[in-house]
Amino acid sequence: MPELPEVETIRRSLEPHLLGRTIAAAEVRHAHVTGGTARRDFVAAVVQRSVARLWRRGKYMVFDLPAAEGGVLLHMVCHLRMTGRLRYLPPRARWEESPAHTHAVFRLRGGGRLIFHDVRKFGRLLLARAEDLPSLLPSGRDPVLDGLDGRALRQILAARRGCLKALLLRQDLLCGLGNIYADEALHRAGLHPARSAAGLVEADFSRLAVGIVSVLEEALAFRGTTLLDYRSGDGEKGAFAQYLRVYGRCGRPCRTCGASVETIRVAGRTTAFCSRCQRP
Ligand SMILES: [Zn+2]
Repeated sequence: MPELPEVETIRRSLEPHLLGRTIAAAEVRHAHVTGGTARRDFVAAVVQRSVARLWRRGKYMVFDLPAAEGGVLLHMVCHLRMTGRLRYLPPRARWEESPAHTHAVFRLRGGGRLIFHDVRKFGRLLLARAEDLPSLLPSGRDPVLDGLDGRALRQILAARRGCLKALLLRQDLLCGLGNIYADEALHRAGLHPARSAAGLVEADFSRLAVGIVSVLEEALAFRGTTLLDYRSGDGEKGAFAQYLRVYGRCGRPCRTCGASVETIRVAGRTTAFCSRCQRP
């Protein structure tokens, strides 16, 4: 569920606590978290490394962990999937969440802990060397990091089959959008989610690019959307939910025209839209 604005908010909230800090000890409580790496190997690899950089691509967060003495740079790639959380706890702060859902704990030299918590257990912390990193990260354009305008969006989408909603969710085309912001971007652009990209004209691509970038940046300014699980790295809720125009608002009036927001099934996903603002 965390999409680009939520992952970027977590990254920004963790950065001041983690940059330059050394991992003194680590504990991985559930084997699935580290993918194919054995828990013991994972712990041995990260301990005594420091966090030199914390960056993001799409919905992925990457910790750059250089070795203490000129060894190989290691990356820890985090994907939160449905319900994953990364949380920094200052020294002596209590962690109140269920131990059954606390999958990894990193103790920092000098005090403080980084906790990886996940109710649904789809989230991952994967180790990668530099040469393996590209295969773990999405190849699509990140609308916030790379920018996006109508021309770029047209190049990405124009020759693609499939409906707009499905294309916006493809992380090999654009990375960072999920169900919430895909629906919101299409509503902002006045485009029906089941329309095909092939039928769009230049003005449509321009409106959609503006819709995508504007909704992501506004959500980021409000530190993301908290519906249920999502919290920042400091444990705070995002405040953008009240500004959503269609997502999660089925049966309520469209904020643009007042017609009732509807949901349909598109690309296997429940999709919210306004049939008056977004004609087929
Ligand atoms: Zn409307």
